[in-house]
Amino acid sequence: TEVLLEIKNLGIQFKTGEGAIQPIRGVNFSLRKGETLGVVGESGSGKSVTSLAVMGLLPEKKSKIVSGSILFNNEDITHLNERQYRKLRGNEMSMIFQEPMTSLNPVFTIGEQLGEPLKQHKKMSKKERKAAIIKILKQVGIPRADQIINEYPHQLSGGMRQRVMISLALLCEPKLLICDEPTTALDVTIQAQILELMKQIKAEKDMSLLFITHDLGVVAEMCDRVVVMYAGEIVEVAEINELFDNPLHPYTKGLIDSLPTNNARKSKLYSIKGQVPRPDEIGKGCAFANRCPYAFNKCVESAPPTFSKGEHLSKCWLQESDRQVNIQ
Ligand code: SF4
Ligand code: MG
Repeated sequence: TEVLLEIKNLGIQFKTGEGAIQPIRGVNFSLRKGETLGVVGESGSGKSVTSLAVMGLLPEKKSKIVSGSILFNNEDITHLNERQYRKLRGNEMSMIFQEPMTSLNPVFTIGEQLGEPLKQHKKMSKKERKAAIIKILKQVGIPRADQIINEYPHQLSGGMRQRVMISLALLCEPKLLICDEPTTALDVTIQAQILELMKQIKAEKDMSLLFITHDLGVVAEMCDRVVVMYAGEIVEVAEINELFDNPLHPYTKGLIDSLPTNNARKSKLYSIKGQVPRPDEIGKGCAFANRCPYAFNKCVESAPPTFSKGEHLSKCWLQESDRQVNIQ
């Protein structure tokens, strides 16, 4: 299978008032062409920072890529300048964020906002642009598309705004679509509708999806493969059924046990105790050690490397008997 996006040993540093911290500490994974890859983890695990790095949207003065590379179609894009990145964004790759209200501009109509990327990336007449906009709005299930184009974001419901965001992201038919918690802000019914819509669009277009979420239930619904992130690292990678049937990393096991369907009969919702450590709290051992029910001496002494069982990877000492992967 061909790879569209490959992240190799990515390290990202942030400047803070108290000095530099490194929230991304050597991230490796790849997204294959046509695949939907889930990136899952609690907030603070580094999912969003990683996706912003792919999009070239990291805060310029406050952050720095300190190691590794991001290959898009076999080309390292970490050294692109803003002008080169703008050519990629919205055209070759686009992103849907959690809260559509913050990503849509309140002072422009829906039609004006959807027209902008077409002006930037496509040679189209005004009439062609309008036709393309109405077509994409209809594709994402927006009724009265010819009227909606004259309305402003605040005139639409949350679900409709997210549909507009999806149409905006799809407008130039990107090869890569990154969805960062795209349904988290929506109520359950609308969430199900939007996920269904995304699946349908995915099936129709020649596109690869990077699906970022804290919700393993959503992952189960949407993804072919899953990358589990914890404290700025990838701790497990597996094909979706394999991950649920045979999770190797204790953190993944905790996430699966926290799913509502797995504890419907328990009175209290199980969740992993404690919090993701801040980058400056991570010592020489495994970053999960303070929360891990399986931790033993070695875990505190040194950080585990990534072990592999075929395509199933896990960064945990419990897998030590298996073949070790050589990652930089
Ligand atoms: Fe738990 Fe040790 Fe595995 Fe870390 S290396 S996840 S502490 S068992
Ligand atoms: Mg996030």
